[in-house]
Amino acid sequence: MDSFNPADIVVRGGHFIGGEYVDEYGRGIDVLRPSDGVAYAAVPLGDAALVDRAVANAWHAFRTSGWGRMAPRERARILRRFADLVAADAATLGPLEALGSTRPVRDAIAWDVPFTAEGIRFYAEFADKVGGDVTATDQDHLGMTIAEPYGVIGAIAPWNFPLVMASWKIAPALAAGNAIVLKPSEMTPFSVLRLAELAVQAGVPAGIFNVVQGDGRTTGDALVRHPKVGKITFTGSTRTGAAIMAACAQTGTKPVTLELGGKSPQIVFADAPRLDDVARRIAAGITTNAGQVCVAGSRLLVERSIAEPLAERIERIFAGLKPGATWQAGTTLPPIISETQAARIDAIVGRTLDSGATLRYGGQRADAATPGAFYMPTLLSGVTREAEAVREEVFGPVLTLQTFDTEEEALELAQHPEYGLAAGVHTADLGRALRFVRGLEAGTVWVNRYGRSADFMIPTGGYKRSGIGKDLGKQAYEANLRFKSVLIDLHG
Ligand code: NAD
Repeated sequence: MDSFNPADIVVRGGHFIGGEYVDEYGRGIDVLRPSDGVAYAAVPLGDAALVDRAVANAWHAFRTSGWGRMAPRERARILRRFADLVAADAATLGPLEALGSTRPVRDAIAWDVPFTAEGIRFYAEFADKVGGDVTATDQDHLGMTIAEPYGVIGAIAPWNFPLVMASWKIAPALAAGNAIVLKPSEMTPFSVLRLAELAVQAGVPAGIFNVVQGDGRTTGDALVRHPKVGKITFTGSTRTGAAIMAACAQTGTKPVTLELGGKSPQIVFADAPRLDDVARRIAAGITTNAGQVCVAGSRLLVERSIAEPLAERIERIFAGLKPGATWQAGTTLPPIISETQAARIDAIVGRTLDSGATLRYGGQRADAATPGAFYMPTLLSGVTREAEAVREEVFGPVLTLQTFDTEEEALELAQHPEYGLAAGVHTADLGRALRFVRGLEAGTVWVNRYGRSADFMIPTGGYKRSGIGKDLGKQAYEANLRFKSVLIDLHG
């Protein structure tokens, strides 16, 4: 699709409970378009009573609709139909996703929507693949483990890829036979409502997929603490993840999956093949979605002898990016999600420069001619590992550059004291690449590439304070099941 006019998009708000829209609860929260700061719609703020209503609906549907008990291939068939409806809805879902988020419309249509559909299809295929095991016992007994859904799963999603992040929660939970109550980010609340509608159209029973709207403190917290929620799956910041984990511990020792923040290194050795390609990967790793990606490769560590030619290439790519509204077809540098976040990025860059860093590129807002919150791709060199932009997750297009002379030094610089989400290693030396694969404290290591592929079997998730558990892969499916042990005395 080419550009669209934001005024042409019809936005349906509200909660989605028991298979229908619910509007009556709570006062509204204004939702702003990051591309121009315009308040274009509002969502209600769901309170504890609203969350209770959603969870009660989900629990009732779980107990009575037969979703978790039906033949698993029938559940898979419904989910495949759901995936087909999502894929066929790209012309509606894509602009809806782009309108109020940081996703350029071309990317939303070409990647976010099909990737969401494919994720649902991927987990549909799991529905009849994991049932449990017969375990080894003596001949007088039969031992089994039986895989069972939790019941109601509470899912909380961030704003940076609203559809895709939500689908990584919804798809495995539904395929495993659970009901779900999803709370999207209050900054990007609308596109997942359309997903819930399409699920019902596909035959997912009413009440199995619910959406509650609101902020974290009121709505999110009520969901996490609800006694009928069996498990919480969360994607967002490390700080919120820790608060959620504490709340889960206090209210039923609920299991959690936490996909949290990162500060991922990109390590480039002088023997890395095709420096132009490396520069492209490094630049894309920090400018995709304007750096608002959990696995953004925000720390460039480069062997001293090639630091200058690599930095020059990256700067040239930065210079070619075009800031613009998400509804404009030519946009390659989308906005920052909010004015507050753009100011935060600028402040971190400012303090890092004050501490002695050198500004090689950018370092300022890019919105003089546009009304939204844009930030120029930024390259900072001369930084120490204590510098704020090296230590903190910036969540913007800010890349720091550090040089090294030896492999040992590179590995030491690469390890972040707190985060361990992802890392990239660029080298022609296979042994060295594998030494880094072994040595890096990161949940994902990419070698001579950076970023996910369409291989859904490869899970994603962090080490250390970057998270607990995995999204995607068979791990995420199994994390939506609990396993019951059965031992039968054959003579009893
Ligand atoms: P955030 O933690 O501010 O909010 C995430 C969600 O949690 C929102 O829906 C919010 O309303 C809700 N929330 C906030 N406080 C809550 C509370 N006390 N109880 C329950 N829910 C609460 O994060 P964000 O700014 O929306 O997203 C950006 C962050 O997400 C970054 O740190 C990024 O790295 C991380 N992220 C991680 C991954 C991953 O896979 N590891 C993927 C995407 C984003």
